[in-house]
Amino acid sequence: MPAHHHDNSDLTKNQALVYDTLNAADGPLSAYTILDQLREAGFRAPLQVYRALERLQALGLVHRLESLNAFVACSHPSCEEDGTVAFAICETCGRVFEFTDAELKSRLGAWAKTTGFRPQKTTIEMRGICAECKAA
Ligand SMILES: [Zn+2]
Ligand SMILES: [Zn+2]
Repeated sequence: MPAHHHDNSDLTKNQALVYDTLNAADGPLSAYTILDQLREAGFRAPLQVYRALERLQALGLVHRLESLNAFVACSHPSCEEDGTVAFAICETCGRVFEFTDAELKSRLGAWAKTTGFRPQKTTIEMRGICAECKAA
């Protein structure tokens, strides 16, 4: 078994190719960039990429960054259980830092409970400059 926290043993070939591409990338990739990188592997249509991405997101292996309309491989073990997933996106180097915060989850949950709001999806994305770029 790989050390990764998610079970990716039953991925189709296309799903595995898309996942490997994202895993090897330094930053988030758009669906079209993924398609370009996988043309040699036999990908022809954006739909092939979108289908694979949909499944990978459902499995928790990949996250979509709403503000960039791009995708990243999950880099945080058991992120769904640990709390709300948040992303810090460096606008200088393009790197994405994924983290989870249990307090965030409980605060958002408390607000939803008080107001009777039923959340289906929570997206937290911070844009800014990472420590390394700031020091450079
Ligand atoms: Zn994650
Ligand atoms: Zn940076």
